[in-house]
Amino acid sequence: MVPYSYLDRQFADVEQYLAAIRQVVEAGDFTLGQPVREFEERFATLCGLPHAVGVGSGTDAIIMSLEMLGIGKGDEVITAPNTFIATVGAIVATGARPVFVDIDQEFNIRVDAIEAALTPRTKAIVPVHWGGTPADMFAIMDIATHHHLAVVEDAAQAILASINEKPVGSWGDAVAFSLHPLKNLNVWGDGGVIMTQSAEFAEKLRLHRNHGLTTRDDVEVFGRNSRLDSVQAAVGNVLIEQTEAITRQRIRNAGRYDAAFAQISDCIELPPRRAHVKQVYHLYLMMVEKRDELLRALNEDGIEAKVHYPIPLHLQKAAAALGYKAGDFPACERYCSKVLTLPVHQHLTEDEIDHVINAVVRFYRG
Ligand SMILES: *Cc1c(COP(=O)(O)O)cnc(C)c1O
Repeated sequence: MVPYSYLDRQFADVEQYLAAIRQVVEAGDFTLGQPVREFEERFATLCGLPHAVGVGSGTDAIIMSLEMLGIGKGDEVITAPNTFIATVGAIVATGARPVFVDIDQEFNIRVDAIEAALTPRTKAIVPVHWGGTPADMFAIMDIATHHHLAVVEDAAQAILASINEKPVGSWGDAVAFSLHPLKNLNVWGDGGVIMTQSAEFAEKLRLHRNHGLTTRDDVEVFGRNSRLDSVQAAVGNVLIEQTEAITRQRIRNAGRYDAAFAQISDCIELPPRRAHVKQVYHLYLMMVEKRDELLRALNEDGIEAKVHYPIPLHLQKAAAALGYKAGDFPACERYCSKVLTLPVHQHLTEDEIDHVINAVVRFYRG
């Protein structure tokens, strides 16, 4: 068995987490308070950005960032059609209309196709750092600046990713992270973080996540209830120390796959690896020949390979009213028909990685 999920391995020694939670219970500090403040400070330091605001989920992080940037009904927001549904669901939740743009070789939004998708109603771009590979933020910011668009980076899969050592989140008005159990820095339920360079914007977000209250009696603006849960922050405060090591191990594992698959490059198309771009391998993505047969062979061999995702968002039932059709985004549709995700997590052993490599090579070379 080479499992995709590693949570049983990661939390085999549960005592330190329970001790942290016990402290929250003993202090009765269940909403915001010390654990959340501490987590926000450590998250900001880890990610190299000045302001972190803990919220209820990665989805809420995108919704609230867009809302506080003034995006809503009647507006259009540009994103990629190969993302997780949450990106698009968040845009729709603000009242805005999602507008898709095709993807590039790195499986991120194709920057030279963005301008053709702009209309007078376009108000924002939500680039997704898909799988942990940063989108081309320099080109995206050129377009955004020129057309006066807001930018919210979706870095749910990309903690510690960077371009030229500039961390994701350095470009946009805001950046959204997820602490979901399946993300690289994970807690025991839902959680998210918004980061921003602007102290003023961070203050707006802090008000918005907590009913718009400045004190228990004073309501400055109408807001939401979407705080990072204090119990989850306590779990996060234990795990955050491991995030650099987790990332290094994922990068190392991906490097072993890359080296092995170079010998079957006629069957496996890997996205480019570029020296100045730090990819953090939330997903190890590749486009492969005979995808469904390979997936079946690997699963039968006990290897939990997956597909992220087989149906592009513009062809989902939920998107019917947006009026897209098959063929609108050929690169994305090709990606969805060929993409395969291998387990790349930090708890894989060398033997497990070798087992995956051998199974893939055997499939193509007999
Ligand atoms: C997980 C994810 C989200 C949403 O995060 P949640 O914390 O689950 O709400 C958004 N965008 C992408 C790309 C994701 O992978």
